Amino acid sequence: MSEQQRPAADVQDPGVRDNIVAARRRLEQALKRAGRGHDSALLLAVSKTKPVAMLREAFAAGQRHFGENYLQEALEKQQALADLEGIEWHFIGALQSNKTHDVACHFDWVHTVDRLKIARRLSDARPAERGPLNICLQVNISREEAKSGVDPQALAALAEQVIALPGLQLRGLMAIPAQEEDEERQRVPFAELRRLLASLAERHPEAPLDTLSMGMSGDLEAAVAEGATIVRLGTALFGARR
Ligand SMILES: *Cc1c(COP(=O)(O)O)cnc(C)c1O
Repeated sequence: MSEQQRPAADVQDPGVRDNIVAARRRLEQALKRAGRGHDSALLLAVSKTKPVAMLREAFAAGQRHFGENYLQEALEKQQALADLEGIEWHFIGALQSNKTHDVACHFDWVHTVDRLKIARRLSDARPAERGPLNICLQVNISREEAKSGVDPQALAALAEQVIALPGLQLRGLMAIPAQEEDEERQRVPFAELRRLLASLAERHPEAPLDTLSMGMSGDLEAAVAEGATIVRLGTALFGARR
């Protein structure tokens, strides 16, 4: 069906499909410039605060991976979208102990694990039939006082303990660096995260440490240049948030 034939009520925001197409192109360009394979990074659609109609629109455009920050909102969306087969949910918000049970039961990935207590609770609550929960450890790569994330110094010890947990599969690292405008400067913390992952992978050849979750709407190119395998785009797909 062409865009013109489509009934208007079908489309909450006709921009979402175009934005998805443009973002895929942007990601492919960045990968090409970095000399990487065209499908070597995953586009995660960060849909926090956005209505389910927009997620449906993104799904219809081929988007399968969605990132949510707020548990209650995410659970409501998952119910409303239960008919979308093959959709995958990533939890990317701040994670407190009282949320670990629901997160372990209702998500495929968690990007924001930064302490052992949370990791243990997720592992204990993960239903066996769903297989191990995919985990990224969030690293406070810019060493900011108020930011979440494990200190780079403490990462190796935490990773070792998380790898041992039966309900989890440690896949890699995630970071939200301090904001920079200039691409060269944006690359510095991403390069550090890449090196941290490489050193973990060297110590733990048994673990599938293949994931660098880094890069958002404002710094995707820098992240891809440093090896991002999951880029998390919100604004570029769904518009500004209030
Ligand atoms: C909101 C959010 C994003 C998306 O940020 P944009 O700048 O809107 O692309 C990515 N990652 C995390 C962890 C977020 O909370």
